[in-house]
Amino acid sequence: MPSHPLPQAVELMISPAKILPVGSDARVFNNCSLIVDKGKIIAISPTAQAHKTYTPQDHIILSEHVLMPGLINAHGHSAMTLLRGYADDLPLTQWLQEYIWPAENRWVNEHFVQDGTELAIAEMLKSGTTCYSDMYFYPETSAQVAHTSGIRAQITCPILDFPTPCARTPDEAINKCLALHDRYLDIGRITVGFGPHAPYTVSDEIFERIGILSAERQAPIQVHLHETAQEVSEAIRNTGERPISRLHKLGVITPLTQCVHMTTLNDHDIERLSLSGASVIHCPESNLKLASGLCPTQQLLDAGITVGLGTDGAASNNDLDLFGELHTAALIGKLSANSASAINAYQALHMATLGGAKALGIGHLTGSLDIGKACDAIAIKLDDLSSLPLYNLASQLVYTHQSRQVSDVWVEGKRLLQDGKLCTLNEDNIKHRAKAWATKIS
Ligand SMILES: [Zn+2]
Repeated sequence: MPSHPLPQAVELMISPAKILPVGSDARVFNNCSLIVDKGKIIAISPTAQAHKTYTPQDHIILSEHVLMPGLINAHGHSAMTLLRGYADDLPLTQWLQEYIWPAENRWVNEHFVQDGTELAIAEMLKSGTTCYSDMYFYPETSAQVAHTSGIRAQITCPILDFPTPCARTPDEAINKCLALHDRYLDIGRITVGFGPHAPYTVSDEIFERIGILSAERQAPIQVHLHETAQEVSEAIRNTGERPISRLHKLGVITPLTQCVHMTTLNDHDIERLSLSGASVIHCPESNLKLASGLCPTQQLLDAGITVGLGTDGAASNNDLDLFGELHTAALIGKLSANSASAINAYQALHMATLGGAKALGIGHLTGSLDIGKACDAIAIKLDDLSSLPLYNLASQLVYTHQSRQVSDVWVEGKRLLQDGKLCTLNEDNIKHRAKAWATKIS
C-alpha cells in the first residue's frame, strides 16, 4: 500500500499569478490553482500543494495573469450588432421609430439573427463575457447559435402587442416562447424566459398572462422599464399610474423579474422593488448615449436590490465590452450618488459578475469562482503598461480598461478563447458576413 494517497485525476488545473473569486468578499489568492472536474470547480488550492494532490489532463500555467469569474452581460439585443452605428446621436423615440424599427422590418430574418448573434458572441467572448442575456426576434435561432458557441445565455423571447418579424400576435410570441423554454429545459447553460418589450408596447392582458406563466414555469421575465422620464410621464398621463405600479398590479414584478434601465425612480418605486425581490439591470452607456437618465445604483444596492450590468444592443452603445460598461457604471454611480466613494471598484466588479448571475436567477451556477459552481472563468494578462504598477487588483480591473488584455475564456470548463483566439467560432467568416450585411443595408 502507498504511504500517501494517489493524486486525484481531474480534467483541468489553471495556475495563474492571482485568483479573484468575487464571492462573499474581495479576497485575492496568490500562487494558487483552480481545479476543475466535469466542468465544475472542485478546489482552489496552493499551487505547490495542488501538484501533489491532482493529476490534471490539462494544466494551464498563466504566470502573468489574474483569473476571475467571466463577466455577465445581463441585457442586450445581440443580433442588433449588425446595426452598430446605423443611427446615432438621436433621442430614444426618434431613434427607434424613424430608424431602428423600419430597418428591422426590412432586414431582420433568421439569417440576420444568425450572423448578428455570432458577431455579438464573438465580440463578447473576446472581451471576457461568459454569459449574456438576449432579447431579440427569432429566439430559436439565437438560442441555437448560443448553444453551439459554448457560451452561457438567457434567451428572452420578445413579446409586443403589434406584429414582429417572427410573430403576428403576442399570443403567438408567447406560445413560441413556451415551446422554446421546454426545448432547453435539460440544457443548464441556456435558460429561456419571457421578454415583454416595455410597458408602452404590451397590454395589461398580455402582461397578466406572462406573470401567470412565469410563475407556473418558474421562467424569468425581462422587461425594459422606466427607461426615460418621458416614458414615466406619458404612462401617468395615459394610465394614471407609474409603469412599475401598473406592472406590480398586473403581477409582473416578482423575484423572477429583471427590470432593465430603471432611470426615473422615486423612493416609493425603490421600496416596491426592494419588497418584490425583482432585480435591476443597469445599462449605463446606453442610458448615457440616448440621454435616457440616471439609474441610482448605489441607492438600489443600499436597499438590498440585486443589480446586474448590461450593454444593451450594440446599436445604442455601440460595443458589447462589459469591462467598459463596469468602468462607466463605477463613474456614473459616483455622479448620480454625488459621492466619490459610491459604486467602488469591487461593487462594480460584483455587479458585472455575481450580481448579474443573481439577477438572471443563475447565481447558484455561475458568477463567482466558488467550489461547486461551473468553471466560467476568464484570464487577464497583467503585464500591460496600463496595469503597472499594481497596488489594488479590483481598482486596476475597473479603472483601467482591461478587455484587450483578456487572453483566455472558459465556460463549464471548456476553453472558448485561447490566447486571444476564438476556439468555437470562425472569426474571419463572422467578419466577412458582417461586411456583407453592411453593404446590403447601407
Ligand atoms: Zn434593450
